[in-house]
Amino acid sequence: MALLTGKEYIESLKAFSPEVYIRGERAERVWDHPLLRQTVNHLAAGYDAASAPETRADYSVRSPLIDEDVSRIGHHIQTSFEDVTIKARLTREVSGRRVCAGCMSNMLSVTWAMIHDVDQARGTDYFPRYQAFIKTLQRNGYGIAWGMMDPKGDRTLPPSKQSGSADLRIVERRPDGIVVRGTKLHTTYAPGAHQIVAVPCRALGEADRDFAVSFALPIDAPGVKLIARPSPGPVHAGAMESPLSSKYLGVECLTVFDDVFVPEERVFMCGEWDQCYKLPLYFACLHRQSKCACSAGHTDLLIGTAALLAEVNGLDAKTSHIREKITDMMMAASTAYGCALGAAVEGTTHPSGVFLPDAVVANSGLSYIRSKLAEHLAHIHDVAGGLLVTMPTEADWNNPELRPYIESALAAGGKYSTEDRLRVMHLAQDLAASRLTGTLLGFTINAAGSPVTNRIVVRNLYDLEGRVRIAREIAGLA
Ligand SMILES: Cc1cc2nc3c(=O)[nH]c(=O)nc-3n(C[C@H](O)[C@H](O)[C@H](O)COP(=O)(O)OP(=O)(O)OC[C@H]3O[C@@H](n4cnc5c(N)ncnc54)[C@H](O)[C@@H]3O)c2cc1C
Repeated sequence: MALLTGKEYIESLKAFSPEVYIRGERAERVWDHPLLRQTVNHLAAGYDAASAPETRADYSVRSPLIDEDVSRIGHHIQTSFEDVTIKARLTREVSGRRVCAGCMSNMLSVTWAMIHDVDQARGTDYFPRYQAFIKTLQRNGYGIAWGMMDPKGDRTLPPSKQSGSADLRIVERRPDGIVVRGTKLHTTYAPGAHQIVAVPCRALGEADRDFAVSFALPIDAPGVKLIARPSPGPVHAGAMESPLSSKYLGVECLTVFDDVFVPEERVFMCGEWDQCYKLPLYFACLHRQSKCACSAGHTDLLIGTAALLAEVNGLDAKTSHIREKITDMMMAASTAYGCALGAAVEGTTHPSGVFLPDAVVANSGLSYIRSKLAEHLAHIHDVAGGLLVTMPTEADWNNPELRPYIESALAAGGKYSTEDRLRVMHLAQDLAASRLTGTLLGFTINAAGSPVTNRIVVRNLYDLEGRVRIAREIAGLA
């Protein structure tokens, strides 16, 4: 069934038994493991959005591949202006509620374009295999983990020049498939996924041909080991403290491929080293367009929290210096979202059918909003006051002997109770002074590629020559 409910998704995990390790121990039952609860919950919320009657019209779309409705954010191959603009709106909406929209449809789409190119350039027959895989994903509503980023070792050297590279590579070619060995880092959500897709992460040279590999496997394929880092929230479902991170967010994984067999029908690239640069290129268009919308959503979340903080402190969002800070944040969110939409307006259709937003606009927007997060977090501290990091804990509030002291000390008058004020302070703390804050920073700065790559893309693709020509004409140069 293409559109699973959150409950059906959780049920579907029982058919898989991935080799997951968390805090040094083997995790057997992913679907009810306490350290994986937030991740499963997070992914289930995405399934619910696409399948629930009230949101389905927005979050699902008819897939021409299987003629069934599929999740826009999770499974759809984006082929139109409409696809990428609707996805941007939804991404902003979801990220403004639970930080990550889990936009795997971006990865599936950019890989669609790259594999199409490989067949065109090399006369191979990978693209029909990839299409068949996408249809299987869509029909079953399978969640995916995205294995793109290799460890890379010494950043100045290609994998073939390093002694003992840990990057993922082909170690054996058999008539019926290949054997792969190595590692992918940062594979978000992997224990809660049904399938893992591996793709190359950078341009490669001829000597690196064994590292030019792409494939898909069930998440529990023999030899795939997931060393998971728990999501940032506390283990217990805090009703008051950590209201966001105790419910949602993903685990991150170091994913090991310990001599894993990949059957031929799931191999999408096998040695075509000269085509690898395409993936980061297409990624720079589509995924960074999404990240503009995603970061606009994070800013929206901070804006709502800042305004509410002002209110529970007995002020309001009209207090002049608070109004200025909130206005700055509104303008930043709107600029980033505007770049997501603007990149779509300037987009083009790749020969494979995938719609690629303009890379210069997308990377400029992302670079800008990335540079604002630290300032916005500082605004939250400013508007909240010191209590943000000094207030008593939820356990103190729940102790009947202590509560009266806290009740009177932290009252701020107005229409909000002390408990309301504490609840809002805890939300602000979750966002701006917690492990979630660190994750949000890492997610903003590094996920979708290092900040310098935004500048490199803009420098390489902006039409500087054309602008110089015009300047020469105006200046009257020959
Ligand atoms: C929360 C989060 C989720 C993620 N999810 C996924 C996922 O699901 N799947 C996935 O595949 N990846 C994922 N990533 C990985 C992400 O794409 C990378 O972290 C990002 O591309 C940066 O790569 P890196 O971490 O290896 O950093 P590095 O490349 O090591 O960068 C560190 C610094 O070194 C600089 N540098 C690196 N190489 C060079 C060089 N040759 N010359 C000069 N300077 C250099 C960089 O510019 C940067 O300043 C995720 C990352 C985060 C933080």
